[in-house]
Amino acid sequence: MFRFLSLSICLLAILAPVSSFSDTATAILQSDDEPEVAALPLVAESSPNRLLVFSKTAGFRHNSIPAGIQCMKELGAELGFEVVATEDSAIFTEEGLDGVSVVVFLNTTGDVLDPAQQAVFESWFRSGGGWLGVHAAADTEYDWPFYAELVGAYFKSHPRIQSAIVVVEDSEHRSTRMLPGLWRRQDEWYTYRMNPRPHVKVLATVDESSFEGGGMSGDHPIAWCHDTLGGRSLYTGGGHTVESYVEPAFRDHLRGSLCWVGQLPDPAEKDNSKKDEATDQVTD
Ligand SMILES: [Zn+2]
Repeated sequence: MFRFLSLSICLLAILAPVSSFSDTATAILQSDDEPEVAALPLVAESSPNRLLVFSKTAGFRHNSIPAGIQCMKELGAELGFEVVATEDSAIFTEEGLDGVSVVVFLNTTGDVLDPAQQAVFESWFRSGGGWLGVHAAADTEYDWPFYAELVGAYFKSHPRIQSAIVVVEDSEHRSTRMLPGLWRRQDEWYTYRMNPRPHVKVLATVDESSFEGGGMSGDHPIAWCHDTLGGRSLYTGGGHTVESYVEPAFRDHLRGSLCWVGQLPDPAEKDNSKKDEATDQVTD
């Protein structure tokens, strides 16, 4: 049904003894005596590993969407994806998701998928898909019960854009381990309708004493993940501003998030030793 699963298993079996895809590809191209693995490029060409960036809006439209798409194209290319960016929900068919291993909802808003498209997306995710929701992904599909579980919490309101301290709660997770333990950055900090903590793994919170208008009684998750619905879901609340998508630390967070939901190695991940230097050095 979804070819990426069998392809992934096939690729894992082939790639297992070697260090990286690019090394393997080079070795295969230069090899004359390994006919059984020489078929790999043909397999990869017919079934590329696709990253689908979906940014359809049926409500508020963020002016950072083009910057977000550009960022996702760059990160996707770094990670070896073929990146497809669209606002056309007609792509949510079995054929349209063929070869797609990660879907990003990038500042989507409102009711963006019809019932048939929802059914295809849900089946795709439950079959082992990876989903990354960015910022207004929490302001999307309020009447779809599966999506409520997928995203973890819906948007309620937001105060003005301002600087705040993000507290990394999981310093080992793929999406947060490169970040300083206390990470000051500027964004639009969403208040959510419920605290997702009972149902998800919280990766980071935003310190409500560090900004005005928190509204979540002191426990304010801002990034979280779960793998309880058959695939991997990660939501991160940053990404309102254009500047977010050229901010090195936020890009590292997005890259790590893509790696986690897509179960990928991350060739661009920086040495973890830098984290200790930055920890607790919070400045404006
Ligand atoms: Zn926003």
